[in-house]
Amino acid sequence: MEETTEIRGVADRYDRIIDYLRISITDRCNLRCVYCMPSKGVPLLRHTALLTYEEILRTVRIAACLGVRKIRITGGEPLIRKNLSWLIASIHRVPGIEDISLTTNGLLLLDTIGALSSAGLTRINVSVDSLIPERYAEITRGGSLDKVLAGIRRAAELGIRPIKINMVPIRGVNDDEIMAFARLTRDTQYDVRFIEFMPTGANDFWSPDRVVTTDQIMQRVQELGALSPIRHRKDGPARYYSLAGAQGVIGFISPISHHFCGSCNRLRLTSDGKLRPCLFSETEIDLKSAMRRGAPDSELERLLRLAIEVKPQAHTLTSTPLVRDRRPMSAIGG
Ligand code: SAM
Ligand code: SF4
Repeated sequence: MEETTEIRGVADRYDRIIDYLRISITDRCNLRCVYCMPSKGVPLLRHTALLTYEEILRTVRIAACLGVRKIRITGGEPLIRKNLSWLIASIHRVPGIEDISLTTNGLLLLDTIGALSSAGLTRINVSVDSLIPERYAEITRGGSLDKVLAGIRRAAELGIRPIKINMVPIRGVNDDEIMAFARLTRDTQYDVRFIEFMPTGANDFWSPDRVVTTDQIMQRVQELGALSPIRHRKDGPARYYSLAGAQGVIGFISPISHHFCGSCNRLRLTSDGKLRPCLFSETEIDLKSAMRRGAPDSELERLLRLAIEVKPQAHTLTSTPLVRDRRPMSAIGG
């Protein structure tokens, strides 16, 4: 990637430096995880409502001029959108972008990771919520754990680092596997991140008693040994630790039990081209309509700055009564 300007991010009203853009490239998915979607799926956007790759790229270029340095591609399931390696290669060439990563369910990883890696993808997060094939198929409503694990192994062979496994522990569903996932960081080079189960828009499966809090997850992990904190990254919502002798690290993401908003450095671009200052706030700024009206770059830059300006200090996920998002996580980009 080319060298560029020294600017890193734009400071928001609360002195957070926003240098990270998460982009949902599709609201479609080849799985129906119980914690994310109802079995019949969610209402889908029309294809023409999705941002084109050119529109995404234009947004990335303008964001990079404002100091955005990191891009994450997500969805929906990003690997089902065609020619993703073209998009990754194009983003890789945008001056200022230092890091491109992907969040995926991994089902199509085996066939796609070679091209993505050649295009410049260096890091992946793969969602795996059970290491028991039958249970994995139940949670995802039909996914094949073998395929996902084969894809992860291929990514490791290709030198993709880090490979982070995202797991959402749900009481009575998969929380008995917390230790097995933590053990992966000893037995393999993979990092594991435990994400608290969140009440996102489209699932009725969430209830407070199904949430396993970070403190409870940590307690179980510590049955394997003491956890040493790691100053892994200075930004982002995860807190990282490691077990003695482990190659991988263990991250905890705690939107429910601990507000992580003070270290939030990100903006989101939804699959239909709305800027979302916060995953949990319905405030959206319509970049796509501006682009399709023919707005110049200066206008898009103003909208990006506006999104940063209105970024809330903290989310309201734990407020009572709970206000649910009307849009599914797959459209916003988890
Ligand atoms: N399809 C890709 C995947 O599954 O990794 C990317 C999109 S998915 C919406 C992004 C992340 O959101 C995944 O790690 C998934 O586990 C997480 N997620 C979805 N619904 C969630 C929920 N209700 N609570 C916590 N995490 C959730
Ligand atoms: Fe699809 Fe990812 Fe949601 Fe599972 S978590 S249904 S893979 S978008």
